[in-house]
Amino acid sequence: MTPSSNGPTKRTTVRRGKNRAVYDADKVSDILAAGVIAHVGVTTEEGPIVLPMAYGVHDDEIFIHGAVANAMMKAGRSLDVCITITIVDGLVVARTPFHNSMNYRSVVVRGVATAIDEPAEKMTALKVINDHIAPIWDTARAPSESDFKKTLVLAVPLTEVSAKVRGEGPVDEEIDMDGPHWAGVVPLTSTWGTAIEDPNQRGNPETPAAVTSLAGQDAHRTTGRFGV
Ligand SMILES: Cc1cc2nc3c(=O)[nH]c(=O)nc-3n(C[C@H](O)[C@H](O)[C@H](O)COP(=O)(O)OP(=O)(O)OC[C@H]3O[C@@H](n4cnc5c(N)ncnc54)[C@H](O)[C@@H]3O)c2cc1C
Repeated sequence: MTPSSNGPTKRTTVRRGKNRAVYDADKVSDILAAGVIAHVGVTTEEGPIVLPMAYGVHDDEIFIHGAVANAMMKAGRSLDVCITITIVDGLVVARTPFHNSMNYRSVVVRGVATAIDEPAEKMTALKVINDHIAPIWDTARAPSESDFKKTLVLAVPLTEVSAKVRGEGPVDEEIDMDGPHWAGVVPLTSTWGTAIEDPNQRGNPETPAAVTSLAGQDAHRTTGRFGV
């Protein structure tokens, strides 16, 4: 993946909290790998809309998918979109509410979304999105032709990308340091649970290893990498 290989552009330059800005491709890549959902923003005739979606990353592109009938997906085709991935790592409690904050890792991708229509490329992109959390595509039934046709897949190049990372305690004012108010960090972790089999399951299929191995795993696998 080559996000921000040309460095920040005018519109991906973090202006406030510049010390938290990250443009290093490997670090951006780690956050994209650790994220679970993307918030996709697009301007439509009815105004702006931001929707949560699954995503996948392959080489220098990020993929999202949705029903062909999905208004936002249709609107996003060939249009500028903004895709944001956010991981919250903790609540930062300061000595005054003004300095309360969160520890986080976030990535913002800006660019033009292109529909992937070529069947083999579209199938690969669907697999990439599907396998982002756990590689279960190969152990499931392949999508039907009708499902395939009803799904629109959009790709956005990872060329205009920024990340921002906060991984520290409260930043309070000197005047408050000897005062009576508590400050600190409350870490937030998300852990996958043990898989619960569909009660309507017939037969006795084996649970895929990719599913069983999720149990107990940090949902945001690279937590700690930035000292959070
Ligand atoms: C969980 C969480 C909670 C936050 N809560 C607040 C809040 O309550 N109030 C607040 O003002 N800010 C909050 N922020 C920070 C917010 O996302 C912006 O970074 C901040 O508002 C400063 O934006 P700016 O004016 O520098 O960026 P803008 O000028 O608005 O954006 C310029 C460019 O900077 C980059 N950029 C900006 N923010 C981010 C980011 N978070 N991640 C990656 N790239 C980014 C993008 O490429 C964007 O196009 C929060 C962030 C997170 C992750």
